[in-house]
Amino acid sequence: MHRVVIVGAGFGGLSAAKALVGKPVDVTIVDQRNFHTFQPMLYEVATAGLESGDVAYPIRVIFGKAPNVRFRFAAVRGVDWERRHVLLEGSDPLAFDSVIVASGATARYFGIPGASEFSFPLYTLTDARRLRDHVLRRLEDADTNPARAAEGPLNFVVVGGGPTGVEVAGALAELLDVAVRHDGFRFDRTTGRIILVDGLDRLLTPFKPSAASYAADTLRGRGIELRLGRMVKLVTDTCVELDDGSQIPTETVVWAGGVTVEKTVASHLGAAVGPNGRLLVEADLSLVGHHDGFAIGDAAAVPWGAGSNEPGKICPQLAQVAIQSGAHAAAQILSRLDGRSTEPFRYHDKGIMATIGRRAAITQFPNGALVRGTLGWLAWLGLHLVYLIGFRNRIVVLVNWSWRYLSWGSGPRVIVGDTIQLADEPVPPMAGRPVPSEPGDSP
Ligand SMILES: Cc1cc2nc3c(=O)[nH]c(=O)nc-3n(C[C@H](O)[C@H](O)[C@H](O)COP(=O)(O)OP(=O)(O)OC[C@H]3O[C@@H](n4cnc5c(N)ncnc54)[C@H](O)[C@@H]3O)c2cc1C
Repeated sequence: MHRVVIVGAGFGGLSAAKALVGKPVDVTIVDQRNFHTFQPMLYEVATAGLESGDVAYPIRVIFGKAPNVRFRFAAVRGVDWERRHVLLEGSDPLAFDSVIVASGATARYFGIPGASEFSFPLYTLTDARRLRDHVLRRLEDADTNPARAAEGPLNFVVVGGGPTGVEVAGALAELLDVAVRHDGFRFDRTTGRIILVDGLDRLLTPFKPSAASYAADTLRGRGIELRLGRMVKLVTDTCVELDDGSQIPTETVVWAGGVTVEKTVASHLGAAVGPNGRLLVEADLSLVGHHDGFAIGDAAAVPWGAGSNEPGKICPQLAQVAIQSGAHAAAQILSRLDGRSTEPFRYHDKGIMATIGRRAAITQFPNGALVRGTLGWLAWLGLHLVYLIGFRNRIVVLVNWSWRYLSWGSGPRVIVGDTIQLADEPVPPMAGRPVPSEPGDSP
């Protein structure tokens, strides 16, 4: 049986594996986590809107009944192309005939001093849970020590005015409102500031300018301060410094400033990479220089293909691109097995979406038409439910969202990590600050 190893069980890896279920190939999906993460809703976990388990789904459960697909819980550290082995951390290598690299990307800090140490990225479930604990602790701190208000425990700086930054800023404003209105916090809501910083002079660059203006007006209307056209120069554990010399006192910097493939496993494959570390692929998505390898999703410079009027255009790092490129790579492997030639990839643009908070979102269709406001928000909800993995998750998320909509009182506003120092325990260093991400952290 032809052995296919898929590295990563994100949108791309799952899509490739699903396309190979029941086919005459032996598939192994390898992931350093035992669950798939629905990244578009991580911000809901980070702002205490959803539980961790609502946006994560065990990979074994997805393929439990597929006889030709198995899961391997391991971190990949490279590929031996000569021997056709995927190299795993701490266990025997996996032999392959074809390999699909779907290992995603990670946060990009642009070398800004202090950014990787003191800010909170939002790329994994661990990131989201850590941020939620941290934000909820700041609320408790502000309640306990109102005199500290000037030091900024309730100043939340969001770096990046793309969809993730806009979503996080809107949801943080809602969290502060709810905390004061429903949870009995006694701090003055006006001492809570959310400041969104972006180096460009507009939000949501992939969207039309009118959509960006709508997002800016909506955020300002919800009390969020926008510092557009300003670059972050320095992040410390107590402030953010901008390029105009101004300093914002804060203990919480959410990093939504972009993603990179550099320093991920893709850079240890001995394969050709392009800008931002993305793996270079041929038109059929096979790796440049490695005929038996394919790269898909965020990890790859996926060509837009024939549908684009810009020659050489590369797809954005979006879930739809990962899903479509995953299915395409799987189909090419099957074509080769049948003795047919491979086909070039062609991206089918289904539009882009961003939500700004309750009853405010933007959907931009490929023809440029915009739907915004409540209708845009309902479209966002519907689409994300459709793509959420697992029937149980869909039901739970739908119930949670509906309940939150009717009653702000709900929401998992629980601090899970240990926060109160017990009398006989030493004070941990950097208590309450980010700790390195742990592979395999389960929901
Ligand atoms: C906060 C956030 C919000 C987003 N919102 C949207 C949105 O609204 N709409 C949209 O279209 N897109 C959105 N995106 C982008 C979208 O989630 C990505 O484009 C998509 O997840 C890419 O899929 P992928 O399969 O390429 O990678 P990923 O989904 O990142 O999956 C990569 C997988 O590889 C595994 N992995 C990585 N390295 C290793 C290793 N060394 N060994 C083993 N396993 C490994 C990881 O554990 C992970 O499971 C968002 C992204 C983020 C971070």
